[in-house]
Amino acid sequence: MPTVPRRRRSPEEVQAAAPVTGPKKVLLAAPRGYCAGVDRAVIAVEKALEHYGPPVYVRKQIVHNVHVVSSLEEQGAIFVEETDEVPEGALVIFSAHGVSPAVVQSAEDRGLRTIDATCPLVTKVHKEAVRFAKEDYDILLIGHEGHEEVEGTAGEAPEHIQIINGPHEVDKVTVRYPEKTIWLSQTTLSVDETMETVRLLKDRFPTLQDPPSDDICYATTNRQVAIKKIAPQADLVIVVGSANSSNSVRLVEVALEYGAKSSYRVDFANEVDESWFEGVATVGVTSGASVPEVLVKDVLRLLADYGYGEVQEVVTAEEDLLFSLPKELRATLKKAGDVTRALGGRGNRPTS
Ligand code: SF4
Repeated sequence: MPTVPRRRRSPEEVQAAAPVTGPKKVLLAAPRGYCAGVDRAVIAVEKALEHYGPPVYVRKQIVHNVHVVSSLEEQGAIFVEETDEVPEGALVIFSAHGVSPAVVQSAEDRGLRTIDATCPLVTKVHKEAVRFAKEDYDILLIGHEGHEEVEGTAGEAPEHIQIINGPHEVDKVTVRYPEKTIWLSQTTLSVDETMETVRLLKDRFPTLQDPPSDDICYATTNRQVAIKKIAPQADLVIVVGSANSSNSVRLVEVALEYGAKSSYRVDFANEVDESWFEGVATVGVTSGASVPEVLVKDVLRLLADYGYGEVQEVVTAEEDLLFSLPKELRATLKKAGDVTRALGGRGNRPTS
């Protein structure tokens, strides 16, 4: 049944309902949006479509963003849940979130051609899991059970890994040898909540070892730092990102924790409810690591319509990291003389 579009209240009606006396403005977080791993994964699908032609199969959403997935579908990508949905001999791309060795094996068994678009920073955590499992460590993987990334990492060494969903699960943990136990984490968690989980784990197991380097990635950390700076001044924080995007959902939580009076996540500008603007002078805006900038621009346009035309960018880091494209694709691009987008992504360079 066709849905009847909701009539938006006019800016004047919103202002009359809850007058704002001071100046209205937007604090726009930087960094926001695409990270190096997402950019690389999206380019990988685009380049595969260009060089091999559709259909190109992708296991799971290439990145967790509704707009990105539907745009790639329009270009000929076919998203599947598992490799057994891919016709034998066809090309399948593994998403940025990574896959377990069992998934790689099943693709191989079916004779599929594969391109692995796993973010190198997720691969780093996989390698840590493999290395410590080989050394017979107990591994406490802090992350959200059921998230694709956690499934992939846990699948590297299921007999050595326990998943800890957060501080509330610390009490249930049992390990064989506390002195030979290490914690690792999903790359897109709340930094503060993860450190709280680690603190509680260390209360129980003082010899618990830290990962060799931070598992929560630079992009997740940088986006949280930026919104922490904005949140105390914001009456409202709008986070652009999809519901299944872990780092986007975390940004709403962090905004509220750091003092934003309200915070909402939207996929698109048309999901913004004008009642959120009642009595609001300062709006913070950010976006998750899988969100194209065009979606943020749409939200800024809507905000301008409601009087929030003044936009101040709050910059807490510069990002310039580049990841080269998956090796399977690089060879094809090289053969075709395609050097236009051999690299993708932006990275981390904290300025404060
Ligand atoms: S959020 Fe971090 S781990 Fe995930 S794709 Fe981006 S850079 Fe990689």
